[in-house]
Amino acid sequence: MPEFKQGTVVVTGGSRGIGASISLELARAGLHVACLSRSGELPDAGGLDTAARARLTALRCDITDAASVQAAFAAVPALFGLQVVGLVNNAGIHLQGPSASFPIADFDRVMQTNAASLLLASQVAYPYLREAGSALIVNIGSFYDKLGVRGNVAYCASKAAVGAISRCLAVEWARDGIQVVNIAPGYIETDLNREEMNEGALQAFLKKRIPTGGPAQSADIGRLSAMLFRLPGRFLTGETIYIDGGQGMAL
Ligand code: NDP
Repeated sequence: MPEFKQGTVVVTGGSRGIGASISLELARAGLHVACLSRSGELPDAGGLDTAARARLTALRCDITDAASVQAAFAAVPALFGLQVVGLVNNAGIHLQGPSASFPIADFDRVMQTNAASLLLASQVAYPYLREAGSALIVNIGSFYDKLGVRGNVAYCASKAAVGAISRCLAVEWARDGIQVVNIAPGYIETDLNREEMNEGALQAFLKKRIPTGGPAQSADIGRLSAMLFRLPGRFLTGETIYIDGGQGMAL
């Protein structure tokens, strides 16, 4: 058994935001990466050398559609001719509104994308990961999983479910050589929220509220993910790792 995992990792939502950073850092660390998204776009790999860039490829896939997920996974082993040694369940959506009137259809949509689809992708990945003999699933949850956040009933519930699914899969699949780790980020500056995060009132609030002094960058999540794929041993499993600058534990 090689000390480090070698082969292809599937990253859902790998076209932009946190998933793009995860894909880039995995490619930089020597892994091959299949970036799944509905657009099927490759992440911007400007900062990578040519060899690392060649380890990235993109596939069109809607993670809420079982046939689409199955088709994507069936195509992955042939992309680089390597075993599938990992899955990063990163794709997710965020809908918000007051709990008293939050539409159940929106609640279902968030749970479907963030929780049920994460389980679906893990189920589809399972035979490939088991065959690899040593594999890792990284789920991207959120530090909202243990907080009560106004207007976020669906998102908080979906991310609590991610923690629970991670624990169950870790326990059930440990004997198959599959580790499962849930990374729970705090506020991360991405293309989508950069303007909002840098807007005066929110920026001042986050500076005060986050013990380390403000939001992190998506590369921070990318580096932590790559580190997990490079961590020898398989004793770390089922755990939720909070990377939130201490915000979730601060009074
Ligand atoms: P973005 O909206 O920037 O990116 C989401 C990615 O997921 C895109 O690549 C998108 O591509 C893809 N995606 C969305 N829906 C689907 C779908 N049905 N099928 C396939 N791909 C899909 O999100 P972030 O990078 O901000 O967030 C990534 C993850 O990190 C999410 O799970 C989020 O909850 C979590 N997170 C984010 C935080 C933050 O502050 N940004 C904090 C804590 C957690 P496309 O649209 O082409 O399908």
